[in-house]
Amino acid sequence: MSAVDAGAWVRDFATLVDENVAELTALDAAIGDADHGTNMQRGMAAAVAALDDSAPGTPGEVCRRTAMVLIRTVGGASGPLFGTFFLRFSDAIDSGSDIADFARAFRAGLDGVIARGKAEPGDKTMVDALGPAADALDEQVADGGSAPEALDAAVAAAEAGRDATTPLVACKGRASYLGERSAGHQDPGATSAALLVRSARRALR
Ligand code: ADP
Ligand code: MG
Ligand code: MG
Repeated sequence: MSAVDAGAWVRDFATLVDENVAELTALDAAIGDADHGTNMQRGMAAAVAALDDSAPGTPGEVCRRTAMVLIRTVGGASGPLFGTFFLRFSDAIDSGSDIADFARAFRAGLDGVIARGKAEPGDKTMVDALGPAADALDEQVADGGSAPEALDAAVAAAEAGRDATTPLVACKGRASYLGERSAGHQDPGATSAALLVRSARRALR
């Protein structure tokens, strides 16, 4: 992954968040406080503005700057969590590396989200989209899949994981306050996490 690739990923994620801001907010209105779309939109717009200020020279610097902006700009749970994803990703990614390095850094990002938020698979959070994507990337790398194959598999896995959050009862975050009433609604953070994976495919394939 080059610094240009990383910048394209962050910018494309911001674009997808913009395009889906109403859906993300509507999902959060059903089981949260109706701010997930605007939280992510504000954070990613600030991240893009920070990259516009000056172009970082390495993918790690791109992702570290994005992380810091998200943690600083987004008040909700999602800012520190996506921020931690990008921070751990930035520590693990190399310049000029292949899909195996992306998969390893993505796994490091997921591990950071889990360490920070303590969510387990099936808790109806962003982990339910990020986890299957990390698994799909690792499987493709182990099987010798190409970068486009691995990214396609990651998108399919993230979107299936996102869809599978609908029947779940939330065990973490605001939605958990609803208990059983959180069932029957797709998780907003799993939805934005699937957009993060889709933007990686669009930017990196
Ligand atoms: P807030 O809930 O503070 O208003 P957002 O609405 O922006 O923040 O984000 C909500 C999303 O954050 C949820 O849909 C869920 O996916 C994710 N989330 C909340 N708590 C956790 C956690 N502990 N671990 C992982 N993800 C979480
Ligand atoms: Mg919210
Ligand atoms: Mg909130």
